[in-house]
Amino acid sequence: MIRKNIISFILLINFVIPHSNNHTVYTSFDIMDLSGCPSLKSGIISNVVMSFPTPHGKTKSFHMYKSSVIPRELSDKFSSILTYTGVGVEFPSERVSLTVSESFVKAMILSSEGNVFISNLNQSDQFRVSFNESDLALENNEFNCGNTISSNSSILRNFDSCIGENEPCYTMGDKLITYRIAMIMTTDATNAVSDGTVQGGLTWIASMVNQLNLLWRRELGFEFVLIPNQDILIFTDDNLTPGGDDGFTYTWDTCTQADGDPKYCELGNVEPYLDSVIGVGGLNAPSESRLWEYGLVLNPIYNGGVAQAPGPISANNPDYAVLNHELGHNLGSAHNITIEGGYRCTLGGTIMGSRTRTSDGGIGDQYSLHTIEMGYKKYNELLNNPIYSNTYSYLNGYTSIQSNNIIPELNVPNSNFSIPKETPFLLEGSSTPSNPNYLFSWEQNDPTSSI
Ligand SMILES: [Zn+2]
Repeated sequence: MIRKNIISFILLINFVIPHSNNHTVYTSFDIMDLSGCPSLKSGIISNVVMSFPTPHGKTKSFHMYKSSVIPRELSDKFSSILTYTGVGVEFPSERVSLTVSESFVKAMILSSEGNVFISNLNQSDQFRVSFNESDLALENNEFNCGNTISSNSSILRNFDSCIGENEPCYTMGDKLITYRIAMIMTTDATNAVSDGTVQGGLTWIASMVNQLNLLWRRELGFEFVLIPNQDILIFTDDNLTPGGDDGFTYTWDTCTQADGDPKYCELGNVEPYLDSVIGVGGLNAPSESRLWEYGLVLNPIYNGGVAQAPGPISANNPDYAVLNHELGHNLGSAHNITIEGGYRCTLGGTIMGSRTRTSDGGIGDQYSLHTIEMGYKKYNELLNNPIYSNTYSYLNGYTSIQSNNIIPELNVPNSNFSIPKETPFLLEGSSTPSNPNYLFSWEQNDPTSSI
């Protein structure tokens, strides 16, 4: 019953990825010897600095760290797949994800000018460097997300300075919580984003998880790792995607739910399938026997994606923007655009809103404070509410460690002032303690209901 209550698919939006063909270049790119990098969790500042190309013909340099997302059992079988994370030299808020295997290299820069995607997935010596994730995204540029959340009150609520309400005031950044994520990769997805092999598909999945971690670690204190037998979830021409009523081969003709988009027919099959081949996980799985926390299916036939909100399951195009967006719904977040019935946020566009409505110059690839706060509210309240028993115990994660971060206190004017319309103003803020590497984010709420 609980499961039925928390899942609903009502709202439909169009999420358009902007065209910018002129921001794609092809160039050579040298991968350094990164064997001497320290681990991201070591606390050591890396002196291994590597440069990455940008679509503007420049380079950005990063301090490089090992950031393994592949558990030992899997890396013993696929030892050539390695993942790294870099922290910007010039702009410490910038991050890079780098994944290398025998023949593939895939990188993504989370930059102040937008996300930069670098790959040689066609295995040539020339690397595609682009603000667009793939040529596939250009062809299929409209993506549709069908989600809503169960409580309207969480859409309309005001947010205070604490994460969540003032009482209790939730903190974030004091813990790093790791979740195991299981991805069912359909044959069509494996062929679309890799060379069609299990090793190629696994390289793509490792790179995607390492990329998702850039945002989840920085903005939530959460991260993902793969499950030990992720390889058995990667389907190829020699081992076809499971079909039938319980499978993942629906078409727009055979799916009879909603508007016929196969994502609606396949979403409900993800958890039963993972339970049958991997073991107990997701919703209703107690901590002592749980083998996975988040689960999803990747299929290029969809129009976008759909997710439980909140919940651990989603169906996605194999695309970074789609996965991040649907995982934001998994956190319990609504959209961030008023006209889409979401939070009244005018950050300039976020990953939880439509790109067509992103302000000029807005990057739109971060979560807003609303999404982060809602994720924390769900994390603290669903997990600890006795009426849900084990339903949300996956939120505990696989591991949880103290980060030993010092959480700074913000010094900003709180209230009791107003700024007349069209008045230029400068917002100043600081923190205690302060550090030149801190990234400050300012958001405002749109009080209207129609734009
Ligand atoms: Zn959505």
